[in-house]
Amino acid sequence: MNRLADRFSRKIDYLRISITDHCNLHCSYCAPFGGRMKLTHTEILSYEEICRLTKAAVEAGISKVRITGGEPLMRKGVVELCHLLSGIEGLESLTLTTNGVRLQEFAQQLYDAGVQRVNVSLDTLRPERFRKITGYDLLSQVLAGISMAEEVGLHPVKINTVVMRGINDVEIEDFARLTVERPYHVRFIELMPFNGFGDHESLFVPVEEIVKRVKRLGDLSLEPIDESSGPARLCSLPGAKGKVGFIAPLSYHFCGSCNRLRLTADGKLRTCLFSEEEIDIKGSLRAGVSIDELADIFRLAATKKPHSHRLKYTEVEKTLGRDMQAIGG
Ligand code: SAM
Repeated sequence: MNRLADRFSRKIDYLRISITDHCNLHCSYCAPFGGRMKLTHTEILSYEEICRLTKAAVEAGISKVRITGGEPLMRKGVVELCHLLSGIEGLESLTLTTNGVRLQEFAQQLYDAGVQRVNVSLDTLRPERFRKITGYDLLSQVLAGISMAEEVGLHPVKINTVVMRGINDVEIEDFARLTVERPYHVRFIELMPFNGFGDHESLFVPVEEIVKRVKRLGDLSLEPIDESSGPARLCSLPGAKGKVGFIAPLSYHFCGSCNRLRLTADGKLRTCLFSEEEIDIKGSLRAGVSIDELADIFRLAATKKPHSHRLKYTEVEKTLGRDMQAIGG
């Protein structure tokens, strides 16, 4: 197994692959310009190309892949793609991030295709608020999707909740309570400033405040740091079946343990979520270079990873180039 490291001796073994920029929800903080599909059929990487790049990434030292978007379950043939990816020798973990709208329909097929776990993004448990945040009346589908994921064995189901002041912060306790009865990992995420998202400061809720609110439900026992929890610090409430996690990209950035690269749907390698630097790996791929040469491009991307990002919630200087939907979260 090859090992990939960056200039700061961080092990880089995780690749997030965005397979579409199209989404069936239009969350105001994620796709502020409406979230319509912008990439054309020829711009977007084909499944064959994604598989070739994944083989090269594995050759370079990547062992974990997460499929994301846009909404990955909106792209036709996603199950076949997962099947192909999970068969790549050396790839140890295949996971997927979804808004859950089509998860009820897809959970079993994804599991059968070799997907090990799913993260479901869900910011509210209230139907009316769901419609306001996402533009659609689809909360019941998402909840059914989460139950189905649990039923078919995509364990643990992780629920990602972006906390926004005055929008869904009153539900912090409700989300945390979910983990008492169900074996879910509910992970609260600090809102990040992305393109065109002007209200960031007034909506931002720092992680300390989120932790305080969860502590109202009982003492939190902190779990030891575990590689599979990624940037989340996990805790559990007394007697809970599931866990609560906190992800604080702004208050306490976790750059020191960052292990990831990102591949955008149009074939650019991004070295950091918050950096605008991209490497056009699609150009080389379509020029017909070998797998070894593509693996070298992954190695080059790793060397270009910045030491850390410079965003702090107290002094957000600017918002970032592409919106989240285009990068893949
Ligand atoms: N459609 C899929 C989903 O909903 O999970 C995958 C793509 S979505 C861009 C990935 C994640 O990014 C979601 O959990 C979403 O909440 C998160 N996200 C988008 N914009 C964000 C922002 N400004 N701050 C924090 N998280 C954000």
